[in-house]
Amino acid sequence: MRFLKKYFVANWKMNKNLSESLDFLIKLNLIDSKQNIWIAPAFCNIVPIKERFPKLMIGAQNVAYKSHGAYTGEVSAEMLCDIGVDFCIVGHSERRGYFHETDEEIGHKLALIVEAEMVPVLCVGETFEQREKGLTHHILDRQLNLALELVKKKSFDLFIAYEPVWAIGSSKPATKEIVENVLKEIQQKVLSIVPRVNLKLLYGGSVTLDNIDEYLSTDCVDGVLVGGASLELKTFQNFIK
Ligand code: PEP
Repeated sequence: MRFLKKYFVANWKMNKNLSESLDFLIKLNLIDSKQNIWIAPAFCNIVPIKERFPKLMIGAQNVAYKSHGAYTGEVSAEMLCDIGVDFCIVGHSERRGYFHETDEEIGHKLALIVEAEMVPVLCVGETFEQREKGLTHHILDRQLNLALELVKKKSFDLFIAYEPVWAIGSSKPATKEIVENVLKEIQQKVLSIVPRVNLKLLYGGSVTLDNIDEYLSTDCVDGVLVGGASLELKTFQNFIK
């Protein structure tokens, strides 16, 4: 075992139907795993996966920004909690980009996730252009301030994934130095906004077998959020060895 008790959060995005999901998890065989393996499958596969693997940490990739009502196609935090969802990803750059989610909406979602007693996995990160213009600090500040605005006084488990947009699915991962510096900055900032949280820090963006050890051996990295590489059984098996 290279590292003990790190977090491996798999974001399957819109991939794997039910039989592919179950097949993957059966072959992954997590019974003796010493790591924290968290899986975020498609909404429609959450219940059957939870039934088959009741101890596995299962997450949703999205949640409604309102608690209930006439919002066709949306799924509330309370509904997710009710079916056994343990954690929920919020603020992913694909949701920010393709679905135009604002920092304010992300703040509402995060508050509803906390209220429903699921663990929020908040994604933050700058675009390539923003980094080039020296705006990384400013962007992270804004994303964190608005995402945490409604939960300032609460005490809860909070996961923050630093996911620079330019590193996601790009084969251009951030260097260990960038990750270390940014996560330290995030840690300081978050604890100044929500001092009572139990904070864990993740890195996400083109994590592969070639670079994962570098991240996991970095001081402030509690784990990784993985997209593409979490879909390949052999790769994921090697990650969590
Ligand atoms: C992601 O989408 O959260 C992600 C980290 O993707 P990838 O690992 O494919 O870069």
